[in-house]
Amino acid sequence: MSRFLDRVETALQDEELKGALGRATDRLASRRSASLDSLEDSDMIRDMARRAKMGLLTDLAGNLETFEKNLINNGVQVHWAEDGKAANRIVVEIAKARDCKRAVKSKSMATEETHLNHDLLEAGLEVLETDLGEYIVQLAGTTPSHIILPIIHMTKESIGEVMHRKIHVPYTSDPEKLAKIARAKLREAFLSADIGITGANFGVIDSGAVVLVSNEGNARLVTTLPRVHVVLMGIEKLVPNLDDLDLMIKILGRSATGQKITTYTSIVPGPRREGETDGCEEMHVILLDNGRSRILGGPIAEILGCIRCGACLNACPVYKNIGGHAYGDTYPGPVGAIVTPGIRGIKGWKSLPDASSLCGACRDVCPVRLDIPRMLLELRKHAVEEADVPWTLRAGLWGFGMIASRPWLYRTAARLGGIAARLMAPDGWIKKLPGLAGGWTRSRDMKAPAPKSFQRMFRDRHV
Ligand code: SF4
Repeated sequence: MSRFLDRVETALQDEELKGALGRATDRLASRRSASLDSLEDSDMIRDMARRAKMGLLTDLAGNLETFEKNLINNGVQVHWAEDGKAANRIVVEIAKARDCKRAVKSKSMATEETHLNHDLLEAGLEVLETDLGEYIVQLAGTTPSHIILPIIHMTKESIGEVMHRKIHVPYTSDPEKLAKIARAKLREAFLSADIGITGANFGVIDSGAVVLVSNEGNARLVTTLPRVHVVLMGIEKLVPNLDDLDLMIKILGRSATGQKITTYTSIVPGPRREGETDGCEEMHVILLDNGRSRILGGPIAEILGCIRCGACLNACPVYKNIGGHAYGDTYPGPVGAIVTPGIRGIKGWKSLPDASSLCGACRDVCPVRLDIPRMLLELRKHAVEEADVPWTLRAGLWGFGMIASRPWLYRTAARLGGIAARLMAPDGWIKKLPGLAGGWTRSRDMKAPAPKSFQRMFRDRHV
C-alpha cells in the first residue's frame, strides 16, 4: 500500500476528525452559497475574474518584469527564487545581514511550501506564527490541514489541551478565553520582533503593491511593526490592476468563508516613506518559482489561476472524509491533488490525482472556474505514462480488452461471472472478492449482480 493510502486508512478511522471536518465544511459550504447568492451578477464577476487570471498567464514573464519594475520604483527590493531552498536562503540572508533575531509571520502557504520555519530555526532565529490557527499548529508541532482554516481538524477541547501543555496556561475549552490567551502572547511578540514575514494574496502589477487579506489584523502588525518586512509569494499571484483586484476580493471572501469581504484588506505599496509614521523601514519581495514555470508549460497551467479560497476542499467528498493531512503536503484537497504533483513532480505523488470521485463539485464552486476534474485526469494519464505498470495490471487490461471486443465472449464471461458472484453472496452481498479484486471489498461489501442482466431484460422486452 502507498504511503498516501496508509494516511487515508488512518484518517478514516479517526471519528473525531470526521466529525470536526463534516461540521466545518458543511457550514462553510452553505455560507459560501448564501453569500454568492447575495452578489449581483456573481456569474459575470466569476467569468471576469477567470479572464483576468488566465490572461496574465499568457505572458507571465512579461507581467512579472513589469511588477518587479513597479515594486522597485516603490522602494522594494526584489529577489527571485528558483526553488524553496533558494527562497529560504534569501530570507535567512536578509535576516542575518540586518542582525534580526526574532521573526513574526502571518499566514502564508508559500512559506509552508518551502518549510521556511525549519530553515529559520536552523539559522538560529526565533519564529512565531501570528495567525491564531497557525499559532496553534506551531504549538502542536503539526501542519495546517486546510488552506483557510489550518486547524479545521481540531476541536476546542484539543486546542485547549495543546495550549495547556505547550504554554502552561490553565486548561480551558472556552474559545473566547483561548483567543485572549493567544492574543496576549502574540502582542508581546509583535512588539519585540525585528523582521515580519508574510505571503501575498495578490501582487498588483500596475501599482507594484502586495495585497494581504486576513480576518485577525495580524498581517497588519506583521507588516508594520518590525523594521524589516519580507514577502514570499508565488510568481502566479498577480492581478493586473486595482479593478481586477476588486473582482478577486469580491469572490475570495465569499468563496472562502462566506464573508462579503474579509475583515482586513491591506495594500502594501512599499516601505515607509519620508514623513510617514507607519510601516517597515525595509521591504523585500521574493518571487518564488518552485516548479510553477514547469506547470505553466504543460496541460495543468490553468491551476496557476487558483486564488486559494479553499472552496473546492469544502465541496470535495474525499477531503471531507480524509482531511488535509492525508494529502501529505502543503496543499490539500482537489487543488492540492493538482498543485503538489505539479510543483514537486508526479514521482512520489501519483496517488494524489486518484483522490477524487471526479464528481465535479470542485469545478462548480471554484470562483475562477478552474476545470479541476480535467486537470486531475491529465495527471492520472501522466502518472500512468511515468509509472512502471505492474505486469498484473497490464495482463488484466489486455484480458479485459480481448473479452470486451468480442460480444459473444463478453456475454459468456458476464454470465459465468454473475453466477460465480451470486454463489459467493448467499445474502446478496459479497464480503470478500478473491485476488486483485479483493481491493474493492477491503473496506466495503459488494452487491451481487442481479440474476437477469440489463442486456437480457432489454432483449426480452424487444423481441
Ligand atoms: S482551485 Fe478554485 S476553489 Fe480550489 S482553492 Fe483554488 S480558487 Fe479556490
